[in-house]
Amino acid sequence: ENLIGKIAAGEVVERPAAAIKELIENSLDAGATAVTVEIQEGGLTSIRVADNGSGIDESDIRMAFERHATSKISREQDLDAIATLGFRGEALASIAAVSRITMTTRTAASDTGLKVKNEGGRITDIQEIACPVGTTIQVNDLFFNVPVRKGFMKKAGQEASAVHDLIVQLLLSRPDVSFRYISNGKTEFHSPGDGQTATALQTVYGSYAMKFMKEVNDHGNGLIIKGYVGIGENGRGNRNQEMFFINGRVMHNKILNEALETACRERVMIGKFPVCALYITIPYEAVDVNVHPNKLEVRFRDETGVYEAVLSAVLMALKEKDA
Ligand code: ADP
Ligand code: MG
Repeated sequence: ENLIGKIAAGEVVERPAAAIKELIENSLDAGATAVTVEIQEGGLTSIRVADNGSGIDESDIRMAFERHATSKISREQDLDAIATLGFRGEALASIAAVSRITMTTRTAASDTGLKVKNEGGRITDIQEIACPVGTTIQVNDLFFNVPVRKGFMKKAGQEASAVHDLIVQLLLSRPDVSFRYISNGKTEFHSPGDGQTATALQTVYGSYAMKFMKEVNDHGNGLIIKGYVGIGENGRGNRNQEMFFINGRVMHNKILNEALETACRERVMIGKFPVCALYITIPYEAVDVNVHPNKLEVRFRDETGVYEAVLSAVLMALKEKDA
């Protein structure tokens, strides 16, 4: 049982960033409007995800830690759900199987909260405590009982950088949620959660960088394309800052990168890659989502249509010279 748990866990939580992604998605699923993520040493020694979401009812505590137990079956038709299909109801069980977890949680219906300890997949203690409504999950010593996995982990700095990139993606995908991210005691980001893409971007790149960002707002070929694109000062030597949110989730597709870069090259001669956060709304039947362990690859039924729509949206955004 425990062995199966550990093997399955390896597929869901292959590194700290993967565990953190699942924990944050649970917070968002629980309707949180504020999420705090704090890590030590890239998440290898400590991860804490605290939210102000619905909390977990006492009667559901044990189920939450069980494999294939989910309270979200009805949502399986969503693109959202399809994207993590196979991991349904597995995340918390998988993380718990390979770490030491302390969870505190309280629902609005209850006067007191619960503090639950889980070691390597087994609940070892449940106590009543006073705590605010919401859920805090503290994960210590990830992979403590999986020496092989521990050996494969990269340096804490590289894990921290993967977590950083993940937080950027989630923060930008949900401007309506306030994210606070603390790494080794230092606050890296604190977004207001005011629903504005511009303030979320400012949280990530700083107000200076915003001077180089142009607003995108266009539609065509069945797509709505909004967001910001920037070239110049804050450009990088890679595509990491080219971010596309398809119907609300970060997705990857080369067509999008190519359309963006072609438009940017047409407007300004630069050696660097652009920065962008483009929010694309497209009918669900026009996309196919391919699930890779840590990357969501999207395919479009009408690639040419998508290419042209993105190209022209970015061209239009970059048209107006600084007024
Ligand atoms: P899934 O998200 O696929 O349902 P998980 O293993 O990620 O499965 O979580 C198991 C269950 O635990 C969820 O269905 C939910 O009921 C509960 N849960 C986990 N994290 C939270 C949270 N932060 N707030 C409220 N409920 C949570
Ligand atoms: Mg989940």
